[in-house]
Amino acid sequence: MTGTVHVIGAGLAGLAAAVTLARAGRRVALHEAAPQAGGRCRSYHDATLGLTIDNGNHLLLSANRAALGFLEMIGARDALIGPDEAAFPFLDLRSGERWTLRLNDGPLPWWIFSRKRRVPGTRASDYAAPLGILLSRRDRPIGEVMACAGPLYDRLWGPVLLAGLNIDPAEGSTRLAAAMIRESMAAGGRMCRPLVARQGLSHAFVDPALATLQRAGAGISFGRRLRALNFGADRVTALQFMSEIQPLGPQDQVVLAVPPGPAAEILPGLTVPERHCPILNLHYKVAPPPGMPPFIGLVGGTAEWVFGYPDRLSVTISGADRLMEEGRQALAEKVWAELQFALGLTMPLPLWQVVKEKRATFAATPAENARRPEAKTAWRNLALAGDWTATGLPATIEGAIRSGNRAAALVLAGG
Ligand SMILES: Cc1cc2nc3c(=O)[nH]c(=O)nc-3n(C[C@H](O)[C@H](O)[C@H](O)COP(=O)(O)OP(=O)(O)OC[C@H]3O[C@@H](n4cnc5c(N)ncnc54)[C@H](O)[C@@H]3O)c2cc1C
Repeated sequence: MTGTVHVIGAGLAGLAAAVTLARAGRRVALHEAAPQAGGRCRSYHDATLGLTIDNGNHLLLSANRAALGFLEMIGARDALIGPDEAAFPFLDLRSGERWTLRLNDGPLPWWIFSRKRRVPGTRASDYAAPLGILLSRRDRPIGEVMACAGPLYDRLWGPVLLAGLNIDPAEGSTRLAAAMIRESMAAGGRMCRPLVARQGLSHAFVDPALATLQRAGAGISFGRRLRALNFGADRVTALQFMSEIQPLGPQDQVVLAVPPGPAAEILPGLTVPERHCPILNLHYKVAPPPGMPPFIGLVGGTAEWVFGYPDRLSVTISGADRLMEEGRQALAEKVWAELQFALGLTMPLPLWQVVKEKRATFAATPAENARRPEAKTAWRNLALAGDWTATGLPATIEGAIRSGNRAAALVLAGG
C-alpha cells in the first residue's frame, strides 16, 4: 500500500504534479496557502472593471509540449486558441509601420529570405545575430555575445528575448535564451504558433485541473500555509501548517511547489534565485476593434504587446522595473494614447486597471540561473517543483509544468 503524496502549492507546478500523480493512481493531498489555486497564472474578478481578468496576459507557443500535454490530461486542450501558422503582427509606434512576421513551418528558415515574411528594413544576414547565443559555451549575459541595438534588434530580437526572459535581454542568460530559441524559432514555424487562453487562464489551466483532481478523489485545501517541515535522518517526518502539525507515515511523500522565497524559509540552506523582475499589465474595458488579431506586438513605445479579449484590451510590459514607481493614472493614459494610435480608436480613456506583479519571475541572468536547485533533494521523500527550479527554461508556464512533471516522476520512482 503506497502512502499519500502531499503537494504544497497549487500553482501550475503543483497542479501538474498533483494531476500526474492522481492519474497514476496515487493518493494526493494538495495544500495551498491562498484562497484559490493558480498562483501567478490565474483569473480573478476585478471590481473596478466589473470583469474577470487574468493576473497577466500569458502567451504560449506550440513548442510548449508539457503545457499542451497538461491541458490534454485535464481535458482543456481546446481552451488555447491561435492561428494555424506562426504569424506575429507588429506595429512600430514611432513610424506607424505595420508588418507580420511569418515563419515557415519547417526547420529550414527560408522565411528569412522572403521580404514579405521578415521584418521590413532588414537583410537576411541580420538574422544571424543570435548565433552568439546559440554558440556560447558558458552561460553569459547576452550583451556579451550579441549586439543589443539596431533595427532588427529593436523590432525582433529585443521583443522576443524580453518576452521570453522578462529582463533587459543584454543582462539575460545565454543558456536560457538558447534553450528557448532551440525549442521554438530554430525548430521552425510549426513550433512557434502563438496560443492564448481566450476565455482566461483559470478556465484553461486551473478549473479543469481542480475538477480532474476532485474526480480522482484528491484532497484539496485552501488557506493552508506550510510553515516548516520536520526532518528525520533522511526523510521528512511531518508538515507544520500554521494551525497544526501533520505527521507523515513511512510511505508518505512531499512535493514542495511554492515560490523560491517560501521554499528557502521552509528548507533552510536551500540555494534559490533571489532577484526578481516585474511585469506590468494594463486592462481597458473596451471591446477590441473588429478584425483585430488575438494580439499585436508594439515596438518603439511603452506598451509591448496588446491582447484583444472579447470584453477588454490588455497590455503587457515585461522587465518593467523602470515603470514600477510611475503613477497608475499617468501610465494608463500614456498607454491608452498608444492603443488609440495602434488600433485607430477615438473614444476617451475607458475604465482601466493597472496590475503590477513585482515578483513576476526570477531574474533570468546567468547568476540567478546558477542558483536554481534540482528537483531531487537530500531527503528521500521530498521533491521540489516550481518555475524557478533547474528546468533549463526561463520562468514560464512550460517550465512550471515540466518541473511538476519531473517532481511527480521522482515520487513515482521512489515508490
Ligand atoms: C504577469 C505575468 C505574466 C506572465 N506571462 C507569461 C507568459 O506570457 N508565458 C508564460 O509561459 N509564462 C508567463 N508567466 C510566468 C508563469 O505565470 C509562471 O512561470 C508560472 O505560473 C509559475 O508557476 P509555479 O507553480 O512555479 O509558481 P506559482 O504560480 O507562484 O505557484 C506557487 C503556489 O504556492 C503557493 N504558496 C506559497 N507559499 C506557500 C506555503 N507556504 N504553503 C502553501 N502554499 C504556498 C502560492 O500561493 C502559489 O499558489 C507570467 C507570470 C506573470 C506573473
